[in-house]
Amino acid sequence: MTSSSLPPQGARRALIVGSGISGLAAALSLHRAGWQPLIIERAPERRTGGYFVRFNGPGYTAADRLGILDSLPDRRDPEGRAFEVDSRGRLTPGLTFPEQVNGTPMRMLLRSDLERVLYEAVQDLVEIRYGTGPAAITQDRDQVTVTLTDGSVESADLLIGADGIHSSVRSLVFGPEDLYRKDFDHVVAACVMDGPLPGMRDGDTLVATAPGRSAWINSYRDHPPVAFLLYRTDWPAAEIRKKPSDALRQAFAGFGGDIVPAMLEAMNRSESVLFDQVSQIHLSRWSQGRVLLLGDSAWCMTLHSGQGSGMGIAGAELLARLLTEHGDLPTALGSWEQRLRPLVTRYQKEALRMRHFFMPANRFGRIARSTLIRAASTPVGAKLGKALMG
Ligand SMILES: Cc1cc2nc3c(=O)[nH]c(=O)nc-3n(C[C@H](O)[C@H](O)[C@H](O)COP(=O)(O)OP(=O)(O)OC[C@H]3O[C@@H](n4cnc5c(N)ncnc54)[C@H](O)[C@@H]3O)c2cc1C
Repeated sequence: MTSSSLPPQGARRALIVGSGISGLAAALSLHRAGWQPLIIERAPERRTGGYFVRFNGPGYTAADRLGILDSLPDRRDPEGRAFEVDSRGRLTPGLTFPEQVNGTPMRMLLRSDLERVLYEAVQDLVEIRYGTGPAAITQDRDQVTVTLTDGSVESADLLIGADGIHSSVRSLVFGPEDLYRKDFDHVVAACVMDGPLPGMRDGDTLVATAPGRSAWINSYRDHPPVAFLLYRTDWPAAEIRKKPSDALRQAFAGFGGDIVPAMLEAMNRSESVLFDQVSQIHLSRWSQGRVLLLGDSAWCMTLHSGQGSGMGIAGAELLARLLTEHGDLPTALGSWEQRLRPLVTRYQKEALRMRHFFMPANRFGRIARSTLIRAASTPVGAKLGKALMG
């Protein structure tokens, strides 16, 4: 942090837990609004990994307002081809991601693109303290006080829990995760592959779906493809305790010709594999006094919504604007929640609907999906397809 970047004397302090997309966006927005943010991150260093992000809607607008849009690449490959893979591994034309949704632009990004651009925007402005997290939180009329796991104590005007779906801030202030987590009967696995599969061209996207199973390979400009698998199980919490390679081999046995086994091999070679259950977070309030939840900790929508990162940024940017507009904290936080909740509710509902597009629940869903994709070659079908992929 350089001396020229010091916030004005007497600036209000915000303690932000988590240096993911939401936490970094909150730090940038609040610093711009004259606050003095401090980020606390549990990981020992920057978390730079992650998967694909379809970036449009409120997050896109907020990124523009924050002045970071021009630094964000569009990794869509204009030469890219999209294929559906049938049960025997044969390829048919698939759906590509549109450049616009409802007249508003969309970019294909990686989570690491967003993280890097936000990190670079705050690195000289905001202190990030790694390797620690909240152990206890108390608050009174004037401040919120956090005892950290390294024994230090920090006080602030506002505490922002941007610490993801398994938020400690939420557990400490709002209660145990079980009260707020709604599990889908899905498990997700994803990894960055070490290159395209044999026979695939750079830029090719492959999708194989069957009732209760789906496998995707998404390709990007200047980046290796990302493999992404979803499957249905009655006991996702038990499933994710299994060794990922064993669970995936069992779940995808006999599926997708040679392509899915090759994806599983690529996952076995990968150093970092996401293997988790798919859940949403639902709370009736996102703030209590001087403590506010932001991003996945408050409203995790699942990857099916395609808006998780975007809403973290949109929520952060709106928060800073309302804190400037209303000097009074309860009014600002109340107004923030009132304005965001309809959008979050809509995206959470859309995620429920979209889960059938990502992975058909039954044979009829599979047929409906195939029909839609075949119809995408007609003008009406193309519009429908674009609406779905957006
Ligand atoms: C496969 C996949 C595809 C997705 N696709 C999209 C998409 O197309 N579009 C989209 O917008 N979103 C998408 N998402 C969702 C998106 O990635 C998340 O919604 C978003 O990254 C959440 O950001 P966050 O900062 O709120 O939480 P996180 O990214 O979870 O960050 C939380 C941070 O808090 C830290 N932390 C946790 N606990 C503590 C603690 N106790 N103390 C201190 N620090 C702590 C963590 O280390 C982490 O750095 C996708 C997700 C997945 C898995």
